[in-house]
Amino acid sequence: MQTLVNVSNRLPVTVGKTIRQASGGLTAALEGLLSDAFRLKWVGWPGAPVSAAERREEIAHFLLQEYNYVPVYLTRSEVNGHYHGFANSSLWPILHYMPNYMHYDEQWWETYLEVNQRFAECILETADEDAIIWVHDYQLMVLPRLLRRARPKQRIGFFLHTPFPSYEIFRCHPKRVELVEGLLGADLVGFHTYGYLRHFRSTVLRLLGLESHAAAVAHDTGHTHLGVYPIGINAPKFEAELASPRSARARQQIRKNFAGRRIVLSVERLDYTKGIPNRLDAIDRFLSSYPDLDRLVFIFVSVPSRESVFEYQQLREQVQRQVGEINGRYATMANSPIHFIYNPIKFEELAALYSLADVCLVTPLIDGMNLVAKEYVACQDENPGVLVLSEFAGAAEELFNALTVNPYDVGQVADALQRALDMPEDERRQRMRQMRARVTAFDAQHWAKSFCDDLVKHEERTDSLDMSAETEAVILDRFRRAGRIAFFLDYDGSLREFESEPHLASPDSEILELVNRIQGVPSVDPYIISGRDAQQLETWFGSFAVTLVAEHGYLFHRPGARRWETLNASGDFSWKPRVLEVLRDYEGETPGSVVEEKGSALVWHYRKSDPEFGSWKAHALAGELYEMLANLPVEIHHGKKIVEVSSIYVNKGAAMERFMREGRYDLGFCAGDDQTDETMFRLERDDLLSVKIGEGATRARYRVRDPRRFRALLRQILDLLESRAQ
Ligand code: UDP
Repeated sequence: MQTLVNVSNRLPVTVGKTIRQASGGLTAALEGLLSDAFRLKWVGWPGAPVSAAERREEIAHFLLQEYNYVPVYLTRSEVNGHYHGFANSSLWPILHYMPNYMHYDEQWWETYLEVNQRFAECILETADEDAIIWVHDYQLMVLPRLLRRARPKQRIGFFLHTPFPSYEIFRCHPKRVELVEGLLGADLVGFHTYGYLRHFRSTVLRLLGLESHAAAVAHDTGHTHLGVYPIGINAPKFEAELASPRSARARQQIRKNFAGRRIVLSVERLDYTKGIPNRLDAIDRFLSSYPDLDRLVFIFVSVPSRESVFEYQQLREQVQRQVGEINGRYATMANSPIHFIYNPIKFEELAALYSLADVCLVTPLIDGMNLVAKEYVACQDENPGVLVLSEFAGAAEELFNALTVNPYDVGQVADALQRALDMPEDERRQRMRQMRARVTAFDAQHWAKSFCDDLVKHEERTDSLDMSAETEAVILDRFRRAGRIAFFLDYDGSLREFESEPHLASPDSEILELVNRIQGVPSVDPYIISGRDAQQLETWFGSFAVTLVAEHGYLFHRPGARRWETLNASGDFSWKPRVLEVLRDYEGETPGSVVEEKGSALVWHYRKSDPEFGSWKAHALAGELYEMLANLPVEIHHGKKIVEVSSIYVNKGAAMERFMREGRYDLGFCAGDDQTDETMFRLERDDLLSVKIGEGATRARYRVRDPRRFRALLRQILDLLESRAQ
């Protein structure tokens, strides 16, 4: 059976004189997985500072024996820097669209890294290479990358329980790049909603320049798949509770305490994301015209949270003041409208309140999911109540039969409250039935299972072209048997990684050394065949015994020759002025884009434009050009951050064919990374051996994932050819 190592900041235990298991949503979610498929281990902080080494060992031993939990011990100052500091005062606000609440302290960041590193070490000791590791939430965002570095092949999942904000917000964080790179260590990153996934994707593109296809991001250590998994609740637990005598007693007590009054319920941690002051404003507005003040009570269960953080202290004062004012204004001899509880309540009381409340008012300004809304729905049975739900809670996407409101719109919330109280039973029943069916069917266990199923499913998918030890052997054998060989090597994206600016992608010593080795093999004629212009290629490679082919095959330069020659001088280039005019228009309309004029082609580059706007304009441009140039001897190519118009008489494939013919080679070895290289690959001659570098559809015979791996392959080939030459 496979081991699942679940990792969250907190272990679900309370450590005092005795140790008790705390039943959180995550515990319930994972319980369902255990019997079926996995052996569970859980790594996390036990929640209490334990300094004596002996006691630490004793607790660790107990937790492992009893529950299969592995504690990561943290000192008080680590908890301050990591949890209270970086996680809750820096990340929490930014993830919830509140950069003005964000604090940043370099020391917190250092501690965050150290604590994540500590988790990594503990996990590596606990998990063997076959285990699946599932990391949870914003306290551990850099952990996937730390694990990936140590274990390239390990299955690692990450789930973010908060929203992921739009790039415009996330970019404010000083460690935005490190945080996103941290998550990309995972094979699968899960979010509650598609909106959060979309924001993450756009952030990855804008921050790191990495495009995602079919909900997967390709990067230097592999693929990170992205998925949407709305978390569910432990519905059976609420059902069982409501069926128990304990719950019946709690309900009876509440009915007695609030006899004759309709109940509007709110339950949450006292957090600035929950929109409590805005809700109180709406209640104030509502009460100002509500005639029956004796017969209605608002029960607020506010669970104290993060009380050491300034903003939370401020919020508590503000809420208590507002509650006091409202109660003062609308209290009658018989009733005080808001019953404010600033404490957690017992589970049986919570379930009882859920089942009795006529209205549940859930109006966060932003919330990753909001479980309270789902829990309320799960507890509605006979004569159901009404859920008023903020459209900014993740849950609103699923619970669309609620009365959804904009929590900032005080008037709308007040009206929704009135509508909820007036709603006829038939409508209440109808709305609730559908929501309840969803909440009970897609519960916490379903959530955990669907995430883990996907995590297992996304086994490293090797495509048939990928290199393996066998294909490498086949390739080397082709070289071993060949007499005269031509190398046709593309440069950018093949020999050399891309840079933000083309001029920065000059050959480094590793590449120069490789080219030097290639030119030294007697049976090999090397060609560097590129879209670059003649001058650039000559500056970089003019001193080597290599034939340079510039502008995708328009010009070439033999080693030692004095001049460049054109490969096809007779082509028709009369289309150039018209095309240039259109490209100039796009250059003007698209900040960051530039036009490049080449001998046989015109190119519009948008690498430095806003990536989404640039890509949108590029599609529009390509479409316009297709129409305009339909009957002309040109090819339109939408490549990596370029749209290029070139003569059909000029392409790398045509150039290569000519050199193959002239050189009478036994073997042509061509390699490249983009569409212009496909003109070589699609020749599919028996005497060709083609290699595609990178992702995407291709006609090449083989694929390597990136230039680094391509250079390694070249070195292997050269080792063979050099030893043969000796
Ligand atoms: N809750 C609790 N004790 C209470 C009140 C609420 O344990 O006195 C629970 C509630 O049942 C729910 C959770 O706290 O499961 C709140 O989760 P939610 O997703 O609504 O908000 P979060 O606190 O995670 O932001």
